[in-house]
Amino acid sequence: MTTFRIGHGYDIHRLASGRKLILGGVNIEFGLGLDGHSDADVIIHALMDSLLGAACLKDIGHLFPNTDPSYKGANSMDLLQRVKRLVQERGYSIANIDITVIAEKPKLSPYMDTMRANISRALEIPSDDISIKATTNENTGLIGKGEGIAAFSAALLYK
Ligand code: MG
Repeated sequence: MTTFRIGHGYDIHRLASGRKLILGGVNIEFGLGLDGHSDADVIIHALMDSLLGAACLKDIGHLFPNTDPSYKGANSMDLLQRVKRLVQERGYSIANIDITVIAEKPKLSPYMDTMRANISRALEIPSDDISIKATTNENTGLIGKGEGIAAFSAALLYK
């Protein structure tokens, strides 16, 4: 009998000067970047929490604490591969992933296919099973003022 498990993840980071903007493993030329202990890739952080949530493996704050200096500047794609291994060790495969990123700027559509290809490579699943959608916050709130970028992710696992 096939068992299905659904998971949900959310993350937000502030935009700051002097930081690279890395989203879905793509280094985007923007002038501002997301602030954080790691590379602050908000898409990958939300994605990891959705996978961990589906497998009931707590969250990335527990697995990769930001008080641990070894995660300073960490490449989130490397952390994603570690999350994939944890999920696999529990016997789960990934059915599909659906991500929504909320950013007032920059326009993300030119980078979507590269982000999906990066995630596909890290998780070893077809990019057809990885959806990334982008929306703005209609100029409202801190995201609308361009102070930060947030992401939501849903993941379905099966075994
Ligand atoms: Mg984060």
